[in-house]
Amino acid sequence: MTVGLSLAGTSAARADAPRACPTDARMPAHEATVALPTRGGAAYGTMQYAKGQMLGPREIALTFDDGPDPKTTERVLAILDQHCIKATFFMVGWYAQARPDLVREVAARGHTIGTHTWFHPNNLRRLPLADAKSQITRGFTAVEAALASAPPEDQARLAPFFRFPGLNDSKVLRTWLDARNIATVSCDFGADDWLQISGAEVYRRALKNIDEVGRGILILHDTRPHTAAMLNDLIATLEKRGYRFVQLVPESNGRALAANAPDALLGHPHAVQ
Ligand SMILES: [Zn+2]
Repeated sequence: MTVGLSLAGTSAARADAPRACPTDARMPAHEATVALPTRGGAAYGTMQYAKGQMLGPREIALTFDDGPDPKTTERVLAILDQHCIKATFFMVGWYAQARPDLVREVAARGHTIGTHTWFHPNNLRRLPLADAKSQITRGFTAVEAALASAPPEDQARLAPFFRFPGLNDSKVLRTWLDARNIATVSCDFGADDWLQISGAEVYRRALKNIDEVGRGILILHDTRPHTAAMLNDLIATLEKRGYRFVQLVPESNGRALAANAPDALLGHPHAVQ
């Protein structure tokens, strides 16, 4: 960090420097973080949870589901770096197991990681309860395993955050997550990028939905080429309209609270096996 600052010279030189974002996670992000409490039935995103708004006016948190994807995740990471944005990736365990290097890359670039089940059944409510719990457990286990060889600070990017596939939560599963100090993260708006629509249409719907609400968590998918294709323009337009990007992180002891819970779904970052 010291080297980077000394190379930058005067503050004017820093201001003129290209907006390349350091991929070193130890460097501070050029944006605020929003610390989300993870206890007591924590659930975020006003699309589902009336009290789930933690962001200030014109603050946006980008989230990407269903990866890591061998074709598009790195493209998304490069665009986020260009804009110095730290996002949250809700990963599917099966894909994390297939490409642990991509999981580590997301963490190394300083993004937050949550989980999104083992292989993404679209509605956990329709599964036998034991199977639904197993889906959630295996999702966390797979992402944690992918990060096991990463530095502790990268392991710590795995947050006690869970997103239900299709946002199909259930009371019994939320209670089960609550007992393990895992927060449920939904969204305030989407852009329908899981549909077969053009990138231009994803862009249009994202802006429309964001402008209507004015702040919150945007749900996107880093598995979708049309999302990667429009992402740079979407971010640039939002910046022009006065929005700023914030990174969702767990409250400072959130990971420890989850790791110390009975029948915990994830361990401490330093517990490398
Ligand atoms: Zn999904």
